[in-house]
Amino acid sequence: MNRRKEPGTARDLDIRVQWLILLRWIAAGCLFLVITGLRFALHVDLPLVPLYAGNLALILLNGCYALAFSRIQSAKRPGRWIARVTALANAQISLDLVLLSWLIHFSGGIANPVVFFFIFHMVIASILLSNRNAYLQACFASAVLGAVTAGEQAGLLAHYTLSNLPPGAFPLLSWGEFFARYAALVATLFIVVYMCTTIVNKLRAREDELETTNIKLQDKDKIKSRYVMTVSHDIRGPLSVIQSCLRVVLDGYTPEVSGKSREMIERASLRTERLLAYVRDLLDLSRMRAAEDMDKTRLYLPDLLSRAIEQLRPLADGKQLEVTVANETAAAFIMASEEAMTEVIGNLLGNAIKYTPAGGRVALRIRDAADPDTLELAVADTGIGIPAGELPRIFEDFHRAPNAKEFEPDGTGLGLSIVKHIVEAYGGNIRAESEEGRGSTFTVDLPRG
Ligand code: ADP
Repeated sequence: MNRRKEPGTARDLDIRVQWLILLRWIAAGCLFLVITGLRFALHVDLPLVPLYAGNLALILLNGCYALAFSRIQSAKRPGRWIARVTALANAQISLDLVLLSWLIHFSGGIANPVVFFFIFHMVIASILLSNRNAYLQACFASAVLGAVTAGEQAGLLAHYTLSNLPPGAFPLLSWGEFFARYAALVATLFIVVYMCTTIVNKLRAREDELETTNIKLQDKDKIKSRYVMTVSHDIRGPLSVIQSCLRVVLDGYTPEVSGKSREMIERASLRTERLLAYVRDLLDLSRMRAAEDMDKTRLYLPDLLSRAIEQLRPLADGKQLEVTVANETAAAFIMASEEAMTEVIGNLLGNAIKYTPAGGRVALRIRDAADPDTLELAVADTGIGIPAGELPRIFEDFHRAPNAKEFEPDGTGLGLSIVKHIVEAYGGNIRAESEEGRGSTFTVDLPRG
């Protein structure tokens, strides 16, 4: 679990940059339609070559951004990654402003209402960038647009009037009118950046608070897990001693105990056995939750399955269950710790055996998942199944479905919690499908080794 707190501007940066790239594809498509429609449907006198060139530049640049972004993504490393995506976002917005100024220049200059599109860019910059960079983009937008349009006013650059655009052209303005429009636009850009950054800052501060609270809660949860771990560890020792003392008596290593006394000791032994299983599960779960990191080695999954089956064979044979294994992949390696995976497989196979009536079948299958980096392990049985209403709750701590309690009173309701925790700690996931009375299938996706 990555508990590093990201700076506000970096949070969800990848999603926002992707969104910006998508938005630009839409903008490029719309721009093409507008230029083509104005020129060929409405016969507006547009300088087609520079406008289409601007459109093409937008498409090519966006392709480059998408490529650069996917490269940065694939080498995702905190720190440098944030700096690179931020630089990419800054570059995109700056180049967009240049392109927008280019398009405005060839379509009537500052008189063209499209100049208000600069406002969208300021909103995007305020959402995507730091406050400082958003204000710098506002300065840059004012400078580029100012240079182009003032250049037109001064006669240094050509002015393109769309002479036959109804209801009229975009003529060259008087200097007074030009300054009034330019000043109003620049003021709007800065006001928009100020308003957006104020709102975005508040939202970021709220997100920061939530994240801090979340981290504190996780820390508290770890302290609780450590406490449960210590207590269950301390209880397990004396319990094991009590259990072995009772076994010594029951196995006949002491003078014979019979009648009511033996019956009492047998009951005590059974209860102690259950209590021990419960304490062991509690210890396992709290140990997993308190752990900071999980070990990882390359493991051959079929070997782990064979060992688990060997261990549980007496239980399966006792109920005449048919246990089969199918390996449908050429590379059945995973990255995990052997101890943790033995726990996962032991729990799933143990449950399948436990909840399947005599004469049933249990099938284990390994195969390639849809994602090439993932391996899929399925444990299917023809057992009692899980009622539909219970399915969403079976991974909760201590939860046992009523039909399971009836079929097999022994159980702690902690096995699947442990399994889920381990699988997710390795970046995998687990799901269950079941039909009451017909059987269940637990499918685990694990990262390949
Ligand atoms: P336990 O088996 O000790 O009760 P688990 O956490 O392993 O605890 O399982 C939780 C619950 O999920 C079980 O009590 C049972 O209701 C349900 N369950 C798990 N595996 C199966 C299975 N193979 N078939 C039917 N129900 C199952």
